[in-house]
Amino acid sequence: MAVKEHMPEGEQILRAVELYRFYHADDEETIALRGVSLSLRAGEMVAVLGPSASGKSTLLACMAGIDDPDGGTVYIGNHRVSRRPEAERAALRARYIGMLFQAGNLFEVLDVRQNAELTQRLSGAADAEHIDHLLDSLGIRHRARALPSALSGGELVRAGLLAALAAKPLVVLADEPTGEVDSETEQRILDLFEEQCDRGVAMVLVTHSRAVATRASRVVQLVEGRLAA
Ligand code: ADP
Ligand code: MG
Repeated sequence: MAVKEHMPEGEQILRAVELYRFYHADDEETIALRGVSLSLRAGEMVAVLGPSASGKSTLLACMAGIDDPDGGTVYIGNHRVSRRPEAERAALRARYIGMLFQAGNLFEVLDVRQNAELTQRLSGAADAEHIDHLLDSLGIRHRARALPSALSGGELVRAGLLAALAAKPLVVLADEPTGEVDSETEQRILDLFEEQCDRGVAMVLVTHSRAVATRASRVVQLVEGRLAA
């Protein structure tokens, strides 16, 4: 875990430098990202706001190495994530990044706990106590043996967060992590996020929630594929 060992407090953990992303469908060109740079320091919670279709999900996908930008580079620690074979990007992701996507990051055939265990296995770590702690913090311990299809929207988001946090990632990238939950649950999730940040985890939260933006250490706004000042 070279990055973890050489990542003093306040050091930049993840850097997205001048990211561009284009999509083509027939004659239509969509420019989802137009030169976005965003760096994360250990312990930082960054809220990304912006209207629909402004590029928020694309930015997260590029930062996670799920998508490869057409221009620009993403680094995690000293590792370049971009322009690498998918298998290498996946290995870096498993080791350093926890993700929660709008489409969900859970395997339907695995229950809530098994999904978290899978994340741990992929990163080479196993820690049942950590899963128990997260289940309690997220208030879903009673749903640990439920399949994703049996969960409510709010439970599903929390099960996704459990999987995202299970392997103690350095960086957490989450798309609308409190989109489907009530305000009490949202506060509970934000408490958990703050605890993560206190441990040096860097978080990027795409959100429309004022509560999330208020708790964030930094708020940035995406507009038409650019970060607004
Ligand atoms: P947001 O998350 O802010 O709503 P997205 O990053 O999902 O925005 O999308 C940004 C723009 O890129 C949108 O115009 C969207 O339609 C387009 N887009 C995203 N993914 C694709 C894709 N796979 N193919 C074509 N266009 C896409
Ligand atoms: Mg989106």
